[in-house]
Amino acid sequence: MTIQQALETIHQQIQTSTQLAHRPESSVTLLAVSKTKPNEAILEAYQAGQKAFGENYVQEGVDKIQYFETQNIQLEWHFIGPLQSNKTRLVAEHFDWMQTLEREKIADRLNEQRPANKAPLNVLIQINISDEASKSGIQPSEMIELAKHIENLPHLCLRGLMAIPAPTDNIAEQEAAFSQMEQLFEQLKVAFPHQQIDTLSMGMTDDMQSAIKCGSTMVRIGTAIFGARDYSKK
Ligand SMILES: *Cc1c(COP(=O)(O)O)cnc(C)c1O
Repeated sequence: MTIQQALETIHQQIQTSTQLAHRPESSVTLLAVSKTKPNEAILEAYQAGQKAFGENYVQEGVDKIQYFETQNIQLEWHFIGPLQSNKTRLVAEHFDWMQTLEREKIADRLNEQRPANKAPLNVLIQINISDEASKSGIQPSEMIELAKHIENLPHLCLRGLMAIPAPTDNIAEQEAAFSQMEQLFEQLKVAFPHQQIDTLSMGMTDDMQSAIKCGSTMVRIGTAIFGARDYSKK
């Protein structure tokens, strides 16, 4: 299957899932997760109409962003990996979105380092929804406090929440985690009526259907678009 065919299949699946959930198809956007994949694969997806891409590793992402800038191809780049404080500047200077915000200190640095000539950096708060010690993200009870902190940072724009629930092929478990996220998302909207809270980023190749059923507005899909990842070359 080509990347173009894979994208068509995913758009069809999004359409089916949104219809089943009685939601408009346009309420779910597709983020193509291109980590470990070469520029040629991203170009192929772009030529098939895909504009938003997600990267997990700062330097790899910046290299790709700069490559497409030299080609005069305008894409939207989302940082979706864990971020150490010594790498914040590259994210602030190059990416359009940062989806894995979980600490005030990182928020402060991104705010300080965001270039003044760029639009504010869109940010999502990452929630550790499966309550796993090993996982990134804050506890649901910490959400409002972090959101209040971000609200006061002029170079960041709080857009919503992101989560990576523990992988499971049990649909009921998938939906339990995603429904909890949906409730938190509603709470956040109510608590911050003047912020542009419109993005609930959840759902990957193996749990996209459940995520859309539970209100996801952005699915992050890698494998189903680009095929399995090969980490051995890294
Ligand atoms: C890798 C990754 C994805 C994509 O996962 P697939 O299972 O390949 O669709 C989505 N979100 C995050 C945060 C990732 O790191």
